[in-house]
Amino acid sequence: MVNVTRIDRKSVVLSPSSLACLAHIPAVNLTSGCAHDCLYCYARGYSVFPGENKVVVYKNTLDKLKRELAHKRTKPQAVYFSPSSDIFQPVSEVIELGYSVLEFLLASGIGIAILTKGFIPNETFKLLLTYPNKVRVQIGIITADDTLRSIFEPNAASISTRLEQMTKLVQCGIVTEARVIPILPGITDEHGSIDQLLSTIASTGVKRVAISTLFLRPAITASLKRRITDNNIFENLLGQFKSEKRLAVHAENSSIIPLSRLKREEIYTRFGQVAKKYALDLSICGCMNPDIGGTCNITGEWPANDTQSSMF
Ligand code: SF4
Repeated sequence: MVNVTRIDRKSVVLSPSSLACLAHIPAVNLTSGCAHDCLYCYARGYSVFPGENKVVVYKNTLDKLKRELAHKRTKPQAVYFSPSSDIFQPVSEVIELGYSVLEFLLASGIGIAILTKGFIPNETFKLLLTYPNKVRVQIGIITADDTLRSIFEPNAASISTRLEQMTKLVQCGIVTEARVIPILPGITDEHGSIDQLLSTIASTGVKRVAISTLFLRPAITASLKRRITDNNIFENLLGQFKSEKRLAVHAENSSIIPLSRLKREEIYTRFGQVAKKYALDLSICGCMNPDIGGTCNITGEWPANDTQSSMF
């Protein structure tokens, strides 16, 4: 049961992100907290995280967004949803607010880049299809195994729903990519799991996949410890991080505990070999792998805008 509260947002709606992969367009969160409740969610460590099963909806987002854009000399080429929440989380207020915000932005000629693990409602799907050239979608999918999905992403859409959505988006001409983040070491990084996942993704018509392995922060480790009841899964996963060291990342000037570079490179190489088999274009998220580099293409490619850099 998700506890939903509504507040007026005081901070700006269109916010720049400290993530390098998100540097080019502003981002919007409609909520703090996310009903999908993924155990590995990095937003669990944020100061605004309201707690598990709690969602705070910024109910004045649309009005505030309209006022912000009215004062801007140049509109952004596109807006990204969402750095630390999901626009399609299963909360009716969020779905309704999300629809109205998307409708306004698209009608204003502003593109939309979406990352979701949720079910895209039919009405919203129809809206997106009205502007196929203005929409980019990344579907987060870390496993082809729905039992595993239900452990790590308890309230997110089923794997079959996500695959159906990917197929439909591709068929409708919307640029659609998959995002296998995080790869769970010891759980989803073996050749068989990778093959099963990437073959399934390729069968939807998606051609591009972004990857990165899990990293730990105290709040993520705590949620894994508290919520994973299967000892094998727990030990396989957490055991991979024993004696790993902290790594500074750009986002929020924070640090994380990743796998060693060597272990990550081994995993990415395995993914690369399988991706080749299915003719998938693979990219590594540079924000989470600053020692390796790359970009996950999270926002998609948008035409250059000379004045955009001065705005965000
Ligand atoms: S869908 Fe994204 S924002 Fe929501 S809980 Fe999962 S990882 Fe966090």
